[in-house]
Amino acid sequence: MATLKLTTKAGIGMTSLRTRERMLVRLREQGIKDEVVLHAMGEIPRHIFVDDALSTRAYEDVALPIGFAQTISQPYIVARMTEILRNGKLLNKVLEVGTGCGYQTAVLSKVAKEVLSVERIRPLVMKARGHLRTLKCSNVKLDHADGSNGLSAYAPFDGIIVTAAASHVPQELLEQLAVGGRMVIPVGTSTQVLHLIEKTATDYKQTKLEPVKFVPLLGGIS
Ligand code: SAM
Repeated sequence: MATLKLTTKAGIGMTSLRTRERMLVRLREQGIKDEVVLHAMGEIPRHIFVDDALSTRAYEDVALPIGFAQTISQPYIVARMTEILRNGKLLNKVLEVGTGCGYQTAVLSKVAKEVLSVERIRPLVMKARGHLRTLKCSNVKLDHADGSNGLSAYAPFDGIIVTAAASHVPQELLEQLAVGGRMVIPVGTSTQVLHLIEKTATDYKQTKLEPVKFVPLLGGIS
């Protein structure tokens, strides 16, 4: 009976606190240094974002399936992208492209004043909305749209994070970045590299960071 209990979302409570602490130890070992990001990752219960059958694996450093051929990103990549985006500063307005189940969105809600997140698959928008409501993330707005176009009504953003791999950096996203803003985006098809784009008053500076593996950024909505 006790073992069964641990595999349910309600029963995982005590263990998840400890496993989350172990996740933070591992993230530090993997090189994550931003204490604000680590604190946010420690606060967000990743197991509520996955199906019950997977909740015992929720704190492993792996991407897990969330349905519709999509995944929840691995904790390391969520931490790394958030750390790069933050660059040690409080973020004001952030755009996330690719909400998925809303885990990265929830982490962003702890490090930014306002988070706009766009997802192209409607049932995932509904799923994420439920998770973010459970966690009372009141500074988040979700939109069902093709995020390659950004969200011009809310631009400019001081941070843009894209959680699906683009074949190229969409022009609309570049245009919606504020001066001094940062975009983190995986670029590539068979091999992908995480890119950092910094917008200056006159230009964009693009830096290649590290190899990554994401589902593709697709056009249109479903
Ligand atoms: N941010 C998620 C997390 O916290 O785990 C990861 C999401 S998953 C790796 C990538 C998501 O991007 C998928 O849900 C996919 O449907 C979405 N996506 C792909 N292309 C998109 C587009 N053009 N606009 C919006 N969402 C898109």
